[in-house]
Amino acid sequence: MYVSMPQLMQGRKALVLGVANKWSLAYAIAQAFAREGAELALTYQGERQKQTVEELGHELSAGTRVYPCDVTNDAEIESLVASLGNDGGRIDAVVHSIAFAGRDELSRPFLETSRSGYLLALEISSYSLVAVARAVSPLMAAGGSIITLSYIGGVRVVPNYNVMGVAKAALEANVRYLASDLGPAGIRVNAISAGPVKTASARGVKDFSKMLESFAAKAPLRRNTEPAEVADAAVFLASDLGRGVTGNVIYVDAGFQIMGL
Ligand code: NAD
Repeated sequence: MYVSMPQLMQGRKALVLGVANKWSLAYAIAQAFAREGAELALTYQGERQKQTVEELGHELSAGTRVYPCDVTNDAEIESLVASLGNDGGRIDAVVHSIAFAGRDELSRPFLETSRSGYLLALEISSYSLVAVARAVSPLMAAGGSIITLSYIGGVRVVPNYNVMGVAKAALEANVRYLASDLGPAGIRVNAISAGPVKTASARGVKDFSKMLESFAAKAPLRRNTEPAEVADAAVFLASDLGRGVTGNVIYVDAGFQIMGL
């Protein structure tokens, strides 16, 4: 149960990348940040998402700013940072909630992963955290918190998760190296490893519904993960409550990850 507390992100400025629609984990995180008093900036990937993300942003708060950012495009990352700088400068928290792999790579055996499919998945789902952290960290002059979203498929074999598991393994290693580089500047970098949630990306994984069923049957809490639970962990990491935590992967998965057979 959520107990009413003073707003944990009052006066904080947060940049959230990865809202595609209201089911996105990034949207749940943006909602929780808004509830905790943060000022928000959201990004969208391509014109097709622009209107939806603007509408969702304004529902969260009238002052939400919305910018384009396709993470495969260095110029868009640079112009995002320039716009953020012009619109008030400082950023205290960044949420990177972005991943992509082609449908073929998420349905065939991992052995059949193509070179281009592998590189694309790793570029969008892993390298982009490095690119975003490098670009945005100069705006975090007072320190801050960078959070990314991972999945247990990065450390265990999950059927059909395939190259995305490799991308998550690389993403979690990025978290450690970035935490080491940025720690002296007071910037913390962590991942939340979430249990499976039905989102647009998740639907790309073959037999995703079966994955949800087996998770709930096996997890100690005997249920699946709620986006709001992931979001509250992000509030912890983005606020002073998480001030001593960096380079970590926090599981928000109803306990699934502790189970053996
Ligand atoms: P989602 O489809 O709502 O979000 C994925 C986002 O990635 C979208 O907003 C999409 O626009 C963005 N994206 C893809 N390519 C991009 C690019 N080139 N440039 C900029 N943005 C791009 O799905 P989601 O489940 O909310 O995924 C968010 C994160 O959570 C991902 O990293 C995902 O792997 C992770 N995650 C999801 C689950 C789950 O079961 N849904 C579990 C654990 C971790």
